[in-house]
Amino acid sequence: MARCSNCKAPLSPASLICGYCGNRNDIDLRGIHYYTTHESDTPRTCPRCNIRLKSLDLKLHNRFLIERCKQCMGLFFDPGELEALLEATVSNVSGIDPVGLKAINEKRPLNQYPISYIKCPVCQQLMHRVNFGAKSGVVVDRCKNHGVWLDGGELRHLFEWMKLGGKLLEQERQEQRRKEREQLEKEQRRKLKGYDDESSAFGSFSEPLRQSDPDLFSIILKAFRLFL
Ligand SMILES: [Zn+2]
Ligand SMILES: [Zn+2]
Ligand SMILES: [Zn+2]
Repeated sequence: MARCSNCKAPLSPASLICGYCGNRNDIDLRGIHYYTTHESDTPRTCPRCNIRLKSLDLKLHNRFLIERCKQCMGLFFDPGELEALLEATVSNVSGIDPVGLKAINEKRPLNQYPISYIKCPVCQQLMHRVNFGAKSGVVVDRCKNHGVWLDGGELRHLFEWMKLGGKLLEQERQEQRRKEREQLEKEQRRKLKGYDDESSAFGSFSEPLRQSDPDLFSIILKAFRLFL
């Protein structure tokens, strides 16, 4: 059971705000990842609080910098970093646990923010809201050029999702979709080939006609000569 870093009261599952003192807890990284903070601020700003983000170094494969807002505990990952962090953190996934996957989404508190589009911390363009993986229940904000924003608590949820085989489920679904696409393409090719066969069948019908053309022509020629 995670406890509030301020008053030590137990935290309800997957909740980062303490019900007793209101303290916002770092449930995403504390006890999961060692990290150091960098004193120099990045020019990147939190899309929720509009203050400068802080750089954290998770020291995975040497330097692994991500950004965090010290107020709302939201995290920003450069493209590919979130996936790399999930891979590095969660190992020994035994298989897909569908019951567990359903349960983590049911006991998860609703996102604390109303549904809205938020700005990329780097380019300030509105980000896209995309579902992360199959049944992760997490809608992440993604800028296709700069990376992914996670609200506080969402990374913890993704660690659990991965542990319960969510990533495997996603890979299975992608494989399934790939097979369906292949099947569809195969059928379309078969149909097209069918048309080809039909047209060549007509072609073979027209062949004897063409051969008889000279005969027809000579008959007409003969008939024409009769009139001369
Ligand atoms: Zn507290
Ligand atoms: Zn913030
Ligand atoms: Zn951007």
